[in-house]
Amino acid sequence: MRGKFGVFQSADEACEAAHGAFLQLSEKGVAGRNKVIKIVKDLCDTKAEEWGKLELDETKIGRLDHKIEKLKGQRGIPGTEFLNPYGLSGDHGITLEEYAPFGVIGAVTPSTHSIPTMACNIISMAAAGNAAVFNSHPGAYKCAVAATRVFNQAIHRELGIENLACIVEPPTLESFNAIAKNEYVKLLCVTGGPGVVKAAMASGKRAVCAGPGNPPVLVDGTSCLDNAAKCVVFGAAYDNNLLCIGEKEVFVLEPFFDKFMAALEKNGAYRLNSGQIEALAKAAFVFPPGQGAGCPHPVVNRDLVGKDPEVLAKAAGATIPRGTQLLIGETKADHLFVEEEQMMPFLPIVRVKSVEEGVAASKRAEHGYKHSAIIHSHDVSNMTAMARELETTLFIKNGSCLAGLGAGGEGYSNFSIATTTGEGICNPRTFTRVRRCVMVDKLRIF
Ligand code: NAD
Repeated sequence: MRGKFGVFQSADEACEAAHGAFLQLSEKGVAGRNKVIKIVKDLCDTKAEEWGKLELDETKIGRLDHKIEKLKGQRGIPGTEFLNPYGLSGDHGITLEEYAPFGVIGAVTPSTHSIPTMACNIISMAAAGNAAVFNSHPGAYKCAVAATRVFNQAIHRELGIENLACIVEPPTLESFNAIAKNEYVKLLCVTGGPGVVKAAMASGKRAVCAGPGNPPVLVDGTSCLDNAAKCVVFGAAYDNNLLCIGEKEVFVLEPFFDKFMAALEKNGAYRLNSGQIEALAKAAFVFPPGQGAGCPHPVVNRDLVGKDPEVLAKAAGATIPRGTQLLIGETKADHLFVEEEQMMPFLPIVRVKSVEEGVAASKRAEHGYKHSAIIHSHDVSNMTAMARELETTLFIKNGSCLAGLGAGGEGYSNFSIATTTGEGICNPRTFTRVRRCVMVDKLRIF
């Protein structure tokens, strides 16, 4: 097993090596975990430019400035401090519930943020005392392999542990199945679209599933429209709309529609006309035969996912000013751009006649993923109505989607948001087993 620094061609070898690393980490205590966390965070910081570029060169999706930010943002991922035990003290003595590790965790990461998801998974999993084996997206694994090697080399130098975060090269469906079946793997954590969530749930192992989203925004006109527009442009343009929490469609109350569109344009958006929107939609969605019942299901055209606004504009037949952050346009509520998680910097804006209509349309567009939703409002009743109706994991008021992950709002960050299985924004506790230790009648000091 020597000399691999976490990179394996065989999934079973990777799992076995990770198990060995888990045992080694257990010997190093909390101090060892803290060292791992510091190493991963420091490397993400110092190598942010290099790795951001590596990931963009491989995947060709997103924006370099945001790829760099996502790596530097690993500083905000919580560590061992999240594992405060729960203590009980009473007439019958003292009981402690502790957050213990699982062992080896099998993790799947998306193409949209390959190294950042892997890094925050390592931080959270190692904080809880675990080792990990990754199956990355086939279109985003080379950068993850490079980062894995560097993480493990640094961890080895400092702690003598060589394979704490392993990765299979190249990742395949077979390697995923082998990881899921391996006896050392006690838990899965998958981050991605519906396919991988389904596969993880069907594996028979317990799975933490960070699934797809299609976050709607409701603008009811009671709050500052300029702030709403600024937040929407920032969130929807971030990494060319690759974020699962990113604003994907906006519903605006009719009387405020024109003013809101103007505010979007003022804040860096470019408005497409209806002909241009339809030209873009034609290029953005494909209808592979054999999917859907009789009527083929639309699939987002991967060639346009995460591309720059200029590329989308070309497909739409529009010429846009330099520096345009986002394309926008008016559509109906049942437009493909509203219904599908497009992950590209075109944002459909829909007029609605009432808050009730806006909430209902938001709920339809969210498809029950229970992922993220956003409202711009100063009306507490409207906020409450939308939150109750959509039941999303993240519900952000008067901020961009990123405020939901601590950028501009309170809270810690993570790139795995366990929507489908309900653990919420992943943190070290997500990757623990709760174990209770009971001392009968003694140890209470009064
Ligand atoms: P994707 O579903 O194509 O791939 C995600 C990962 O799953 C990849 O590693 C892929 O190889 C793997 N995968 C896909 N189908 C699989 C199967 N049947 N068996 C085993 N592995 C499989 O998604 P993507 O384009 O890489 O990422 C975008 C999607 O991920 C969006 O739907 C987005 O909302 C979602 N996402 C969710 C979160 C979250 O925290 N909830 C975070 C990031 C991305």
